[in-house]
Amino acid sequence: MLVPPSPGKINVNPFDNRIALPTIRATTAGLAGTGSDHQRGAMIIDCHGHYTTEPQKLHDFRKNQIAGIKDPKQKPSPPAINISDDELRASVEGAQLKFQRERGTNLTIFSPRASGMSHHIGDEGISLEWSQVSNELIYRLTTLYPNNFIGVCQLPQSPGVNPKNCIGELERCVNEFGFVGCNLNPDPSGGHWDAPPMGDRFWYPLYEKLVELDVPAMIHVSASCNPAFHTTGAHYINGDTTAFMQLITSDLFKDFPTLKFIIPHGGGAVPYHWGRYRGLAQDMKRPPLEELLLKNVYFDTCVYHLPGIELLTKVIPADNILFASEMVGAVKGIDPRTGHYYDDTKRYIDRVSWLTAEDKHKIFEGNARKVYSRLDERLAAKA
Ligand SMILES: [Zn+2]
Repeated sequence: MLVPPSPGKINVNPFDNRIALPTIRATTAGLAGTGSDHQRGAMIIDCHGHYTTEPQKLHDFRKNQIAGIKDPKQKPSPPAINISDDELRASVEGAQLKFQRERGTNLTIFSPRASGMSHHIGDEGISLEWSQVSNELIYRLTTLYPNNFIGVCQLPQSPGVNPKNCIGELERCVNEFGFVGCNLNPDPSGGHWDAPPMGDRFWYPLYEKLVELDVPAMIHVSASCNPAFHTTGAHYINGDTTAFMQLITSDLFKDFPTLKFIIPHGGGAVPYHWGRYRGLAQDMKRPPLEELLLKNVYFDTCVYHLPGIELLTKVIPADNILFASEMVGAVKGIDPRTGHYYDDTKRYIDRVSWLTAEDKHKIFEGNARKVYSRLDERLAAKA
């Protein structure tokens, strides 16, 4: 088992002599011709993108790592991945970077493939090694493309293991790689939901570190190993909805008033059933949802049709919505009814008539800078 990393002691970092953080230029290229009334000179920050176009060498490493659980002879060593900068560039040039240009977005808050985290596989040592390898590739991409990507890390969670085991890797990614947040899996079991709910003190050591580092967590499940739940069609949306209900029933934000969570995929079923959640909170003598949660909980715009985005922006205040597309992600195709990619979510937001220019500025840029305060600091340093 690997020793958890501590600052200054990186055990599998192949580039520990180059940890200077890249500077970000707040480019606004790409706004032209998009039909957006988002003001010129502003940025469009996509808070939810995954590295889903990884080189085959990374998949091979993971396959061998998993095979090595049963047969140690097959266990690879992390430096053996040997992915070159050219291979990294080739993996994103025709995908994430192309879509950024075509859709008129600037900066993607970028993390390892969410379904790939698969915390249910192996033990915490396997999870730590896999997280380190995955996060290091994200870091390298952020150095190759500092104006296009900023990192969010995968945590080395493992079923039944206290999430304080994640603190070392979180600190490494934030302090040494300049990452601005993490993805937190509320169900490391992969569809069996045997971890305590998110308001439980089980999670508190990690929350304390998130608050100390002032980084938010996107609540994001990973692959489902329960065949009853399709990973991206059911488990992801269930995860978003389930986490929200767990937050309603907890006093978490009394204990951590500055803790920030982003619930992805438009909040799962939450906006559609907002009345149910308001009513449940009322019946349980909880404060109104605005008071209970909306100083700490944000929703992204990974909703792949206009009526869904319209509902989201009617129900959830603009102050709590962050632009996101999750490209290249769960839904890769083109909608034959519109001729556009389902996950080109900027087009939907542009068409919501009741959003003011100020609302759109919050959704496209302002809220991301508020929630990811370390991103704001990096941008401000260059302004
Ligand atoms: Zn995602």
